Amino acid sequence: MKTCITGGWVVAFRNGGHEVFEGGEVVYENGAVVHAGGAYAGPVDERIDATGMLVAPGFINTHVHTSGNGGDTMLMDMLKNDYRTTNYMSFAAPIKGRQVPPAGEDMAAIRRFVLLHAMKGGATTIIDVGGLRGDWERYAELIESLGARVYAGPSFRERNTFTDPQGRIYYDSDTEAGRKGLAAAVDYIRAFNGAAGGRLRGMLNPAQVETCGEALLRDTKAAARELNVPVHTHAGGNLLEFAEILREQRRTPIQYLADIGFLDARTLIGHGVFTTAHPWSHYPFGDDLRVLAETGATVGHCPYKYAKMAIVLRSFQRYLEAGVTLALGTDTFPMDMVSELRWAGILAKVADENYQAGQPRDTFNAATLGGCVFLGRDDLGRLAPGARADIILVRLDHLHSAPYRDPIKALVDFGSGRDVDTAIVEGRTVIAGGHAVALDEAQVYAHARDAIGRFWQHVPDWHWAGATVDQVIPPAYPLHRRGD
Ligand SMILES: [Zn+2]
Repeated sequence: MKTCITGGWVVAFRNGGHEVFEGGEVVYENGAVVHAGGAYAGPVDERIDATGMLVAPGFINTHVHTSGNGGDTMLMDMLKNDYRTTNYMSFAAPIKGRQVPPAGEDMAAIRRFVLLHAMKGGATTIIDVGGLRGDWERYAELIESLGARVYAGPSFRERNTFTDPQGRIYYDSDTEAGRKGLAAAVDYIRAFNGAAGGRLRGMLNPAQVETCGEALLRDTKAAARELNVPVHTHAGGNLLEFAEILREQRRTPIQYLADIGFLDARTLIGHGVFTTAHPWSHYPFGDDLRVLAETGATVGHCPYKYAKMAIVLRSFQRYLEAGVTLALGTDTFPMDMVSELRWAGILAKVADENYQAGQPRDTFNAATLGGCVFLGRDDLGRLAPGARADIILVRLDHLHSAPYRDPIKALVDFGSGRDVDTAIVEGRTVIAGGHAVALDEAQVYAHARDAIGRFWQHVPDWHWAGATVDQVIPPAYPLHRRGD
């Protein structure tokens, strides 16, 4: 069946870049785009009216943790005065042996919520960089029913982070766990790569550059090459990690990863903020941006999350001009890719004190074309004949917006993930009228809220000082909870 999206502002891919057509049309059939641009002359079977909407390739959200991000609203608060804005509260560095993982049902509820939340924020392709703690079969079923395109693999590491009774973070080595984790991830990929009608694809996720040793990282990259899948690790994500790698390796995380052959065009680096280019690293030796550009690795930039920690990439524009492939991701809540475009652009301007940095064109490219490079996919992130029919329709004409001349600038300036009206993946409509087609949203939210509530309730059981969430992260005002 041939479907034509008509009447909207169409972002079509031509001559190596995006171009916009007012009152354009996108036609797709059997999951693939057959036409994108001006009016389509041939016959079609059905029409979708996109008047007043942007018709764009769905965004690629390169940083979602479907099982870990559930309780991360805590990350929005940075009143912790230790750990130098690392994520250890959400990493949940517990007293060793005290933390019980959430029950399977709770984990399933959280990941269902996180995936749907990310889809509603404009992502048609989701890179799950750290979810998938077991229960693979149901994960594949969930992807099938939600209709998203997902790259995933169980994350693994050989050093866990714990706190001692004085609250000091330490690494606890377990080389065997890392080796087993990689083997399990390879098994997962062999079993599930191409599941859910080809929308679920495998990737390897050695968790963090400092929690995986050199041998494990080398073996992981070798396995990724053999399996022909992308690989992701967190690197340059926080100062503790930067210092740890500097101490162990006598070079920066980026230089180290390059030297051991980990970086190439199929590698995604989560964050890549603390490099030789960042003043806080105080390490002006070498040039990590040149290394990133020369290896072809992608930096998955999550601007809003970092802004909450008073950290900015130094800078979006500088990375771009150095030739680094930039993609965007959200990491924490809200997983709103439309807002992320705005944050990326605004923070680029602030970081460089240059109002011409971080152009809408460049942030939009990062959220679409940039995210496809490490995936090795030239049929995603664009609307052109032969590309997969992964399309979002975003409402632009309403009173929260303003009259505009350029719909891309309007999207970046005024847009929100809540304006995503329709999402289509592989030709299947998965969000319609702003709501999930396959799931009861209120139920998904309620189950996730209960599951996350249970996670929060158990924090004193494993926190080094037995603190409650409210003690670790005080509310804005004295807060009288029901039943207090
Ligand atoms: Zn992450």
